[in-house]
Amino acid sequence: MTASTMSVDLGLPTDYYGVNVFDDKAMRQHLPKAVYKSLRQTMDKGEGLDPSIADIVATALKDWAMSKGASHYTHVFYPLTGNSAEKHDSFLSPDENGGAIAEFSGTMLVQGEADGSSLPSGGLRSTFEARGYTAWDVTSPAYIIENAGGIVLCIPTLFLSWTGLALDKKTPLIRSNQAISKQALRVLKLFGAETNLPITSNGGLEQEYFLIDRDYIMKRPDLMVAGRTLFGARPPKGQEFEDQYYGVIPNRVLAFMVEVERELYKLGVPVKTRHNEAAPSQYEIAPMYEAANLATDHNQLIMTVLRRVARSHNLVCLLHEKPFHALNGSGKHLNYSIGNKDVGNLFDPGDTPHENAQFLVFLCSVIRAVHKYSGFLRASVASASNDFRLGAHEAPPSIMSLFLGDQLSDVLEQFRIGDVKGSRKKRIMNVGVDTLPQFPADPGDRNRTSPFAFVGNRFEFRAVGSSQSPADSIVALNAMLAESLDFAATFLERELQSKEVKNLGEAVQHFIAHVVEEHSAVLFSGDGYSEIWHKEAERRNLPIYPHTPDALPVYTHAEVIDLCTRYAIMSREELRARQDIYLEQYTKTIRTEALLAVNMARTLIYPASIRYQTELAKNSKALKECGIEAKSKLLVEITECITNLDTSIRALEKTIKTDPVDTREREIAAKNAGNSFNIQLAEAKHCKNLILPTMLELRKCVDTLELMVADDLWPLPSYQNMLFVK
Ligand code: ADP
Ligand code: MG
Repeated sequence: MTASTMSVDLGLPTDYYGVNVFDDKAMRQHLPKAVYKSLRQTMDKGEGLDPSIADIVATALKDWAMSKGASHYTHVFYPLTGNSAEKHDSFLSPDENGGAIAEFSGTMLVQGEADGSSLPSGGLRSTFEARGYTAWDVTSPAYIIENAGGIVLCIPTLFLSWTGLALDKKTPLIRSNQAISKQALRVLKLFGAETNLPITSNGGLEQEYFLIDRDYIMKRPDLMVAGRTLFGARPPKGQEFEDQYYGVIPNRVLAFMVEVERELYKLGVPVKTRHNEAAPSQYEIAPMYEAANLATDHNQLIMTVLRRVARSHNLVCLLHEKPFHALNGSGKHLNYSIGNKDVGNLFDPGDTPHENAQFLVFLCSVIRAVHKYSGFLRASVASASNDFRLGAHEAPPSIMSLFLGDQLSDVLEQFRIGDVKGSRKKRIMNVGVDTLPQFPADPGDRNRTSPFAFVGNRFEFRAVGSSQSPADSIVALNAMLAESLDFAATFLERELQSKEVKNLGEAVQHFIAHVVEEHSAVLFSGDGYSEIWHKEAERRNLPIYPHTPDALPVYTHAEVIDLCTRYAIMSREELRARQDIYLEQYTKTIRTEALLAVNMARTLIYPASIRYQTELAKNSKALKECGIEAKSKLLVEITECITNLDTSIRALEKTIKTDPVDTREREIAAKNAGNSFNIQLAEAKHCKNLILPTMLELRKCVDTLELMVADDLWPLPSYQNMLFVK
């Protein structure tokens, strides 16, 4: 079955929603009652799996999958490349009589072996021990993928080295959930809240993307290989009319969206909204929020399905953060909250003074967390492609600040004033007695220039890039908030023991005042794009890491190592591995793009320009022969541009060849096996400081030529073609 033949009548979405997921309904139907109960317990409470039920679950899963036509199964995992990885195995095994039987044991379900030697490990595995293993993530349900090539049972897993080190994005996320649960429960206990369930983080991920006709992409090596245009003059009409956002969705695009949604419904992904985005040919898809771990897995599925379905509509879905220069880039807003079924959403202010007091503790813990660890949060979104997006065109700047809205800022200010001795003139709020003013759930004064904003009952982190896994940011948020909640719980516990503190309300009052006094520097409600803010941020001592090579060193800063090891989220080695891998990815990405730019300029742009120049020259000559002596200004200009083009190509080639590290340094590092950080950083900085600016120079030459050379000779589809033909 291909994606397009699946448009056969499936009935109502309510009928086929989740048909391809081994969800609660399927579990209840296919598992013995006691096994179901035990598995449910494991899923809900995040407890260890009872090994005695693994075989039964595996057999039920296999039967269910085979009844839907599956022939193979795969452990799906999320290596540090940010993609999904899978290795398919058949259910069939030869039997003793020359036939075959279908087999799927508990061991096969729970653990798999994956040769990860070609996946990045950042030195966590030595080459002689290249294997890693995958371990079933019981909390994310198994599902079936229908492809033109076959039907496969997919089992979400963790990916670890044999020594237990996390080689993936999921493992730290699960660990960080445990950390935040433990600390949040300590705070909740003080408020007398009762629950037997863990507290989990939730994620609602708004995914932006571009959709371009496949025929154009085939003619653009840059879009094919790098996912972004390395060249392309600005079209006369860009997005300045602001007529695209929420505009009517073109038919062809709508057909694509409907099919994407149908596929995702079958996979139990709760897709909710679709709309046009600000740039031409840019769109957004957003599911309802879910537990962060599941939301992250589902986001990977969304990206996969978007790409796959686009193909069958002769479209290409671009997930790159900045496919088109001078237009909006694509992000992935992460809506973040914590809570559970019993206690509700802990970022919801609530209606009673008691609920408000609890809310204020969680809110202030977030403020403190973002202030203390903003560098870590910034590093979690660092990548070559996201660097092009942050800081312009509806994307937040790379300085991490928190936007609360006027009302909430006002409330906090009252606490600050209240706590400063001798200035009790203004009436202050009395925690535990007063009720907070009503905050608009969806405040109109949304500040789009803020990377991290409180939006009524959750935070919206807007710096995640469209192609990135949100996992790293969720891990950073969970880790920093766990530490802050730990601090809050300890603070309040200590206060409550003090004779001078009358009640919990007063203890909370002190906590809020403390946070506002110490950590207000991270609050900002002005224009995040402005020059003034950059100066102000500097004055406030907020870390400013404009680009990836500035941000990634944070992974091994003492306070980040301390934070992640203290809450058993990542070890020093695991952090270092991420730093190495991400730095390497950055350098590789830019070097590949630079080589591609040289190649395209030399073999496509240069020949086209020369052809046009020759035509102009011929024309001049022909005119002269007729006795018309006209000096072609265009010929003079284009000749000059071609010379500049040639110079720029050579300059870029030179910077690509230049090694920023001298031989001696390399020798020392080679002896010092395992510590190549300085070399990697030097290479990344070379990319940032020399290769990228030189590429931009080359781009200017090419874009100037694009506006001169005859259209029929220009080898690349223009921005106008790609963005406005639908
Ligand atoms: P907007 O474009 O106005 O930001 P959307 O409705 O497109 O809003 O997206 C909001 C996202 O936030 C959705 O994925 C939604 O499910 C999610 N969301 C809503 N409430 C919460 C919450 N408490 N925690 C996490 N995410 C939430
Ligand atoms: Mg949003």
